[in-house]
This record gives sequence, structure tokens and C-alpha cells, in this order.
Amino acid sequence: MPETKTAAPPDVDRVAASRAAVAARRARAAVKQAIADGSRSPLDVLRAAMEEPEGIEGRLRVTEFLSSIPAIGRTKTERIMADLEISPAKRLGGLGRLQRQRIRQFTADWVAAHGGTGDRLVVLAGPTAVGKGTVAAHIRRHHPDIKLSVSATTRSPRPGEVEGEHYFFVDDAEFDRMIAEGELLEWATVHNHHRYGTPRGPVEAAIARGDGVLLEIDIQGARSVRRAMPEATLVFLLPPSWDELVRRLIGRGTEGPAEQQRRLETAKVELAAVDEFDHRVVNDEVGEAARKVVDLMRPRRGRPRRSAS
Ligand code: 5GP
Repeated sequence: MPETKTAAPPDVDRVAASRAAVAARRARAAVKQAIADGSRSPLDVLRAAMEEPEGIEGRLRVTEFLSSIPAIGRTKTERIMADLEISPAKRLGGLGRLQRQRIRQFTADWVAAHGGTGDRLVVLAGPTAVGKGTVAAHIRRHHPDIKLSVSATTRSPRPGEVEGEHYFFVDDAEFDRMIAEGELLEWATVHNHHRYGTPRGPVEAAIARGDGVLLEIDIQGARSVRRAMPEATLVFLLPPSWDELVRRLIGRGTEGPAEQQRRLETAKVELAAVDEFDHRVVNDEVGEAARKVVDLMRPRRGRPRRSAS
């Protein structure tokens, strides 16, 4: 028998490979169709692409993604690509960090302008002791048009905390009931201790009215909101430096040394989540950080397209 010189794969491999390619093409076509008929939010597709760059959504070309969005034709796609500084050959999963931010912002704007949640729901999260509560309190005081979600918690009120303003203080049985009846948009056990959750009704009502809603919650909660409402904008509050975070945690004196050590370990893990977020805001000066968060919630017309972060 003559020797075969080519390095071509055996027939059976070629058949399997071409079957896999056909299946992947079909799956991508189904994603495009779902965007086009409105059964899937483009923001949800983007998120899946960022989470799994080699998955079905990640392998979608940016041009295919954009032109599947209703009312964005071929010409508009070309203009948008140039505006976002993304080359036509790029796939969603192959975008750099800035390009990801730009396409996400563009898509959120588009969704908002076409009746979706857009960036009306903003989640503010960040590592322990970074000052989320202080930034949120500043927003509550100085920006009355921004609605802050009031969480339910099983912890007891601290001096000065008001029922229904800072939290809804509930017992374990009531918290269990809220979970069972689907009243919470997300919930988590924070610092292995008490449970905290976001009541769903007020958030949905505010979005329906077209108001901006801010959720100040922990990182696990932010992830759950993302799953429940893929269009939510996630903002990560960063400390100016690690040393400053340590200083804030120890300086506030609300935890003993063992608990402080445990929270610092948690903070290290939490800081690693920064890339999952859409925007980062450094909490150097509270008023300035609050302004940047609020700015992300305002209508975009008349301000620069690229974010405050
Ligand atoms: P504190 O007890 O100091 O008020 O809050 C402790 C932590 O719980 C903070 O990190 C805060 O962001 C988080 N938290 C407050 N409300 C919620 C909520 O509704 N859901 C989740 N997941 N975390 C929350």
C-alpha cells in the first residue's frame, strides 16, 4: 500500500470537526435571532461573552452582534464600530478592557433608549470597609432624586438607625418568608453572620416609573442582581490603596482584632472581583466618589460617552 504523505486528519476527525463547526454556527445564529426578536437582551449576550470568551456568545463577531440589534443596520454598525474603535474582525470574547467598557456602555445606552432598564439600576459594591455605606449616605442626603433601595436584614438596629429608612429589621422567620415568597431580588449572608436582602417590589416599581435606583450591597449580592437583571450597572468602589483600606477598617473600631483580620482576608478576595464590574470608582473623597456614581445614573445626553471611572 502506498504511504500517505499528507498530515491531514483522518476522515472521521474531519467529519466530527465540521459537524462541530456547523453546530457552533447554528448556536451563534440562534443567539443573533434571540437578540433580533427581543427574546434576549443584548446586555445579557455581552455578559455571557465576557464571562466565557471562548463560548458561543464570545465567538460572535462584534459586527454580527451589533447588526442583530433591532434598528441597527449594516451602515450604522460600521459607524458604531469606528466610534468604539473596534476593528471589524474582532469577536466579543477577544475585546480588550477598554473596548469591553465602550461596547457595554453603548449597549446600555441603546437598551435604555429603547425602553429597557438601561443604567437606571445601579449596584454599588466593593470590599469591606471601603466606605460604601458612607458614599450611599452622602447620595441619600445630597441627591434626593436618586432612590436608594432599603434592604431587609436580620441584624439588630444600631443606635440612630431608623426602621424603613436604613433597613427593614426583620427576624429569621420573616426573612425566610420573604425568600419563600420570592419577595427578594437577591439576598446573602454577610460576614458569615446576618442575612441581608433587597426587596424586589420597590426596585421594580422605581424602574417602571423611570427612576434611578441605587443598591448598596455586598459583592455576592451584586453577582445575584447581575443574574436576575442582566442590564443592571455594577459599580465597584475601590480604596485609594490597600494601606488606606486597612487604616479604615481598623480606624472605625467596630470590630475586634480577630474579626478585623478575618475581614482583611475577605477584602483581599473581594478586591479580586473588580473585573466583573462595569465601572470602578475610587473612594478617595466621599463627595467626589458619590458624584461619580450619581453621574453614571443621569441621562447620558450632554456628557461624555465614556464613563466617569
Ligand atoms: P451593615 O451591617 O454594616 O449595615 O452592612 C454590612 C454589609 O451588608 C455591607 O457590605 C452592605 O453592603 C451589605 N448589605 C446591605 N444590604 C444588603 C442587601 O440587601 N444585600 C446584600 N447582598 N448585601 C447587603
